[in-house]
Amino acid sequence: MKSKSVLRAVAAMLLAVLLLAALAACGENNDTAHKHNYIEKVTKPATCVEEGVATYTCYGCGDTYTKPIPVSDMHKYKKTVIKEATCAEDGEASLLCELCGATKTEIIPATGNHMYVLKEIQPATCVQEGKEIYQCQNCDSTFEDAVPPTGKHTYESSVTKTPTCATPGTTLFKCTVCGDTYTEDIPIDPNKHEYSKEEILKQANCTDAGQKKLTCIYCGDFIVETLPPIGHSFTKWTVYRPATTEAPGEERCYCDHDCGMYESREIPQLPPEEGPEDPVEPPDGGNGGGTGTGSIGTVGAWNLLKLTGGQSAALLRFARQSARQ
Ligand SMILES: [Zn+2]
Ligand SMILES: [Zn+2]
Ligand SMILES: [Zn+2]
Ligand SMILES: [Zn+2]
Ligand SMILES: [Zn+2]
Ligand SMILES: [Zn+2]
Repeated sequence: MKSKSVLRAVAAMLLAVLLLAALAACGENNDTAHKHNYIEKVTKPATCVEEGVATYTCYGCGDTYTKPIPVSDMHKYKKTVIKEATCAEDGEASLLCELCGATKTEIIPATGNHMYVLKEIQPATCVQEGKEIYQCQNCDSTFEDAVPPTGKHTYESSVTKTPTCATPGTTLFKCTVCGDTYTEDIPIDPNKHEYSKEEILKQANCTDAGQKKLTCIYCGDFIVETLPPIGHSFTKWTVYRPATTEAPGEERCYCDHDCGMYESREIPQLPPEEGPEDPVEPPDGGNGGGTGTGSIGTVGAWNLLKLTGGQSAALLRFARQSARQ
């Protein structure tokens, strides 16, 4: 019984010695060769005002130790924007360390994000480039876009040669911008005669129509135009037969166109006179019949109207009506 318990005590002691030996080997770096392998871990970061702590732990045996981390210049800044940056201008921010109160300013770079809008268009022409000019809404920055020439001419047309019945015409097209030209034929127009050759076939007179032939100088086509009667022209009265104390006289107005037609009116009979001796002499003054004798001779050959009497106004009308027959 006693020997058994002694054995157990010895075994236990042996185990304890072995365990101690193992533990001692790590710490004391003896021949059992456990070399610590520490892993560093920042357990408290250093700041601008306070040291930090780094903890080293051996992953083999769990042994640990710590080391201070010196005060750093890593401030804990709080940023306040003093001036916003724009597309073109830098901004500015002030930085204040919440821990130590250190300050500094910082440039906020310009964004470069211009807000371009179309400001001006210089239109392209048929041959010249145009431009679109854009400007930033927030600054003076601009840029230009080229607009290629349109190639579309603005033609104005004019007839430089009118077509006739025999020859085609010409239309000229000219660009009002660059002067580019081209022409187009206008087809012959069978109705565009040039009736400039005149020939009187029959002269018109007081009562009869005449005829005029008009011939096209290009193709010989012709038309005949009617010339209307020119009508009588009664303007000058002359005494045909002087009035006497015995009978009334007569005045006649012959057509100026020498057609022989005339109008007639009566010269009132003269009152009886004391002196019965001179019936041949017409009286002076009054109806102006004194010049009658001259015209009597000239009318002898004409085809005279036969007057039927009555008032002079009625006679006048009669003469005109007769003339138109
Ligand atoms: Zn260790
Ligand atoms: Zn600080
Ligand atoms: Zn801008
Ligand atoms: Zn043009
Ligand atoms: Zn013609
Ligand atoms: Zn006449």
